[in-house]
Order: sequence, then structure tokens, then C-alpha cells
Amino acid sequence: MSKRFYVTTPIYYVNDVPHIGHAYTTIAADVLARFYRLRGYEVFFLTGLDEHGQKVQQAASKANIDPQTHCDQLMPKFKDLWTKLNIAQDGFVRTTDPQHQTVVQRYLQNLYDKGLIYQAEYTGWYCTFDERFWTEKDVKKGLCPDCQRPVEQVSERNYFFRMSQFQDQLKEHIQTHLDFIQPESRRNEVLGFLQKPLEDLSISRPKSRLSWGIELPFDRDCVTYVWFDALVNYLSGLEYLSSHPKASEFWPASVHLVGKDILTTHAVYWSTMLMGMERPLPQSIFAHGWWTMNGEKMSKSRGNVVDPHAMVQEFGTDAFRYFLLREVPFGQDGDFSLTTFHGRYQAELANDLGNFVSRSLAMLGNFSKNMIPSNAPETETEWDHQLQQTASTLFEKIEHHLYSLEFHRALETIFGLVQMANQYIDKTAPWVLAKDPEKTPRLHTVLFHLAETLRFLTYALMPFMPHTAESMKTRLGLTVDISNSAFLNYPNWGEYAYINPVTKGASLFPKKDMPRTEESQPAFSPNPPLTTGKNTQTVPLAPSPLTSHDAPMIGIDEFQKVQLKIAKILEAERVPKSSKLLKLKVDIGTEHRQIVAGIGKKYAPEDLVGKTIVVVANLKPAKLMGIESQGMVLAAGENEMLGLLGVSEDIPVGTKVK
Ligand SMILES: [Zn+2]
Repeated sequence: MSKRFYVTTPIYYVNDVPHIGHAYTTIAADVLARFYRLRGYEVFFLTGLDEHGQKVQQAASKANIDPQTHCDQLMPKFKDLWTKLNIAQDGFVRTTDPQHQTVVQRYLQNLYDKGLIYQAEYTGWYCTFDERFWTEKDVKKGLCPDCQRPVEQVSERNYFFRMSQFQDQLKEHIQTHLDFIQPESRRNEVLGFLQKPLEDLSISRPKSRLSWGIELPFDRDCVTYVWFDALVNYLSGLEYLSSHPKASEFWPASVHLVGKDILTTHAVYWSTMLMGMERPLPQSIFAHGWWTMNGEKMSKSRGNVVDPHAMVQEFGTDAFRYFLLREVPFGQDGDFSLTTFHGRYQAELANDLGNFVSRSLAMLGNFSKNMIPSNAPETETEWDHQLQQTASTLFEKIEHHLYSLEFHRALETIFGLVQMANQYIDKTAPWVLAKDPEKTPRLHTVLFHLAETLRFLTYALMPFMPHTAESMKTRLGLTVDISNSAFLNYPNWGEYAYINPVTKGASLFPKKDMPRTEESQPAFSPNPPLTTGKNTQTVPLAPSPLTSHDAPMIGIDEFQKVQLKIAKILEAERVPKSSKLLKLKVDIGTEHRQIVAGIGKKYAPEDLVGKTIVVVANLKPAKLMGIESQGMVLAAGENEMLGLLGVSEDIPVGTKVK
């Protein structure tokens, strides 16, 4: 029997468009699915949408459309993003699919027939927003303990699932299955929750209050609670979305990936539902953390929401996939900052990986006519063995890290090999070997080792960065199919017979300027021919870091619109919470001006006081991080500020510069 791997994301609630949190879970699931497919497993990767419930009904009525139309309008936004992020799911559940509804009703009837669902009068405090009841002791000052919105007393006949009956069984399961709830801290939280007596779960809503849901098969006046409906997707999706002849054997799921906010729902509600339905529990439920942006909670009202589309547009799908999984250990909270993203992009993707690929392919082109030569074993050195050994243990390490969902460690391991390979090039200096015909065998050995390293990296990157891996495969001329079962056995060094020429191709990760934000607002300015220094680069008048730096030609009259003056720095201080910005007070002869300049990485405030500089005096005032800047200092540099433009001290302040 072949091995099976079943991974799920939560089904996402269609009350909003997809955001970074949705993308994060789904990318993680995709990496696991791709990895296990390569390892020869039969994989089922399920994601989808949770389309019922009060919030959907409310959102639809607000938009004056029926709930189904509302869902149908939002559904493509999720599917399109998954396409853009290169997500290869096997199934996409919608809880309004009739097949799903049938499965939910079947399980409801099954539990009802067994006496595990009963009817009772229930009075409690109801929070409309969270769609749940609270007990007297939960509610303080008439507010929902979860969302702090007012709750109302509601009395109704409801159906309950006998969740309390499974409390001990669940506790024991968690205690005896150490992988069941991960990470460990979350497991302890759930065990803590289970210290208190577990109550029965209300699983119905009267249609008079909520009509948008799945009808109870044994009472047509009620619909089922949205969570009961949603959680069953993990079983229904297998039933009607998998074409596998033995689809049911994918259950129990290998891993349910969830956000930490819905861990209890999965660990307690879903687990006890499964016990009632006499189905085995999933092997593990893994709760990951949340993303903040620049240290703050993301929210639409704050306007600090990361738009996955914009990130992909700017940096590419693979860079986005890479960053989310590399930056933060899965399971912990993480902070998203454009500066960090840009930093990793430049250092790890453009410099380390991109550079290694282009250097290696260029040398194969220049020194071996684009063909991969054979190894000359008698010329091998310690360095070759070190590279080969590291590459040969790569897959085992990746598998080990992915088994415990340590995506960041898997990527760290892969990029460790990239760094070693760059050092290998520096140490072996193939360009020196190429000058001496007697050293051709050694040169061939080095080129061969570079090609093998490229091949191993191509395979290793496949689950994480599929576009990049495909592109490397093409450049290297590999004819293998890297889709299913390619790592059924881990690759062996030297086993591949290279026959095709390599092609260098364009840069995999072209260097990028930092996208413009307040923090990254450049302090730069026009560079008229004030100096002839070679380090001074031409920067267009209105620098747009997203466009080319080749400035169009301008006439003298255009240049003369810019009023440049000699100024003296009187005061300088750092702008709080910014590593780059300094607030300067400068004397421009006629008046004192406040200028905010992005020079804080190069200069300490105390170094600047007394300096004579050049400023643009007629620039429209602008606000940088909330502070008004009444002008601009001239500095040299492009991505990085290299130095302020200065003049000799004896030119009087206020002198015009032409
Ligand atoms: Zn609430």
C-alpha cells in the first residue's frame, strides 16, 4: 500500500477578501503537499470556503444581494489569489455545495439517531457577531468577553451535541498522542481548557433568527451551527472532491493547519464530533501564529494591511512564499515589515541564490561551451567533498524539518548550501584554472560540482519555490520530471547523465529598490553637475524607486526651476521609530528650515551640526512620518546613501548654487 498524506487549511470565511493570514496557511499547506508528492506519497490537499452563517447573511443583506450571490462574488477572489501564489490544491470545498450539505446532514442524523443530539430549552447571552452564547459568568457589563460587543438575552429551544460526554476521552487522547496538538505550548493551552467541565455544544439555530445554513434533517425549522457545518468539510471534501478510488482512506488527516484563534474549535469541538461519529481523530492539528505589521496589529482601519497581490506584483510569487516561511518559525507570531522583506530579498534571493545560479551558468558557458563536463576524480579536493557531503544530506534534513513543520529551518538548510556553494566558487576560482590548459581536469571537476549543486538545489527548492525550481531545471537542461515521486529515493551525487547544454537566462531575482513608503522616502535629489566625482550617480528629479534610474534629458530652463542653496545645519535629531530619518534644522540665509532627511544610517546627529551642505529650497513641503519637511538635502547614492554633498566652509549660507 502506498503512503498517504492529507493536509488541510481551514475553510475561509467569505465575509472579506483574502489577506496575508489566509495566504500564510495556504502556502504552508502547499509546500507540505508538494514535498510529500515528491516523496511518492498519495496526497490530498484540501482548502475552501465557509459560506454559511450569520456574518455572511448580514454582509449580503447589507449589500442588498442574496447570500449565495455574495459568496459567488467573493469565491473567485480566493481562487485567483491561490492561482497567483501557485497553490496546487487537490480540492476546493464550498459549504454551499449540495454534496457537502448532504454529508453534513448525514452526520447530524447519525448523531441524532445515537442519542448524541438532544433538544433543550436554552437561555443565555448571545453575541451576534461571534454567533455564540455565553454563560452568566462569562459576560461582564453586558459585553461579549471575546469581541466586547453588547450581548442580548435569548431564550430558545435548541439542539445540543453531547460534547461533555467525551471530555475524559479527549483529555486522554491528547495526553497519549504527543503530536496531536502542536506546538507544545498550544497543547498545554487546550489541556488547560479541559480542566474545566466541558459543556454540551449548541448545534442549531432557529430559522427565525438565521436562515442561511444547512437545515437539520430532523427539524426543518432549524439550521445547523456554522462550525458544525464547516468542520465536516474535512470529511465531505474527501468524499466528493477526490477522484481517488480509495479516497476515504486518506482519513484520518495527516495535519489540519489552523490559526491559533480557531484551535479550540478544532481540538475540542471537532475532536469530540469525530468521537461521536466514531471516526478516528486527525494525526495532528497545528496552530500557527499571527502576523503583525511593523509591530502593530494589522487592521483595515489602521491601513497597515499587507496586500498579497501587491507583494507578488512587486517581488514575485516565490519571494513572497519564501519570506513568509523563512522569516518566522511556524507556530510563532511574526512581524511583517517591508524593510525586512526587502532585506531578505536582496541578501538571500538576489545575492545568494540568484548570484550562485548566474555565476555557475556563466562559467559553464564561458569555460565549457555550455556543456557539463565529467568529473576528474583524481583532482578532487577537500572542498569538493565538503560541498558534495552537504548537498547529499540536504533532503534528509528538509524532510526532518518539514515533519515538524519547521519550514524556516528547512529553508535555512537549503540556503546554507547556497552560501557554501558561493564560497566554493571563490575558493576554487575557476577563472584562474581556465587560464592554464594543464588545469583543465581540475576545472572540469569544479564545473561538474557546480552543476550537481545546482541540480540538488533545483529539487530542494521545488516544494517551496516552484517557479524558481522550474526555471533552474530549464536552464540546467534537466530532462527529469520533478512532479510526483521525484524524491522517492533521495537524489545521488553523480547519478544524473547530463546531455543538454545549459542556458544562463535572465536574472532569477533582479535587484529591487525598496518600494516607496514614508520610512523609505529617499533623501535624494537632483544631481546637477555640481561635482564630477565618480561616486555621484545621476538621480532623476523626482526619484521613483519603482522605475528606471535613467533620467530623461532636460533643458537648462527645467533645471533652473530648482532653487539650490548653500545651507548650514544648526540642529539634528533622530525621528523616533525610524532608523533612517533625521530631523534637521538648517539655516538657508533668509530663514531657518526644518528638513527631514533619510540619512540616519550614514550619519549620527552629532556629526552633522555645523556642516555646510546644499539644499533644494523651493521643494513643496511634505510630511515624513508625520513631520513636515520644508526642503531636501542633496546626497549621493542610490539604494544606499553614501554621503551628503558638501562645499567648502567659507561659502556664505544662502548662496545660490547653479
Ligand atoms: Zn462577541
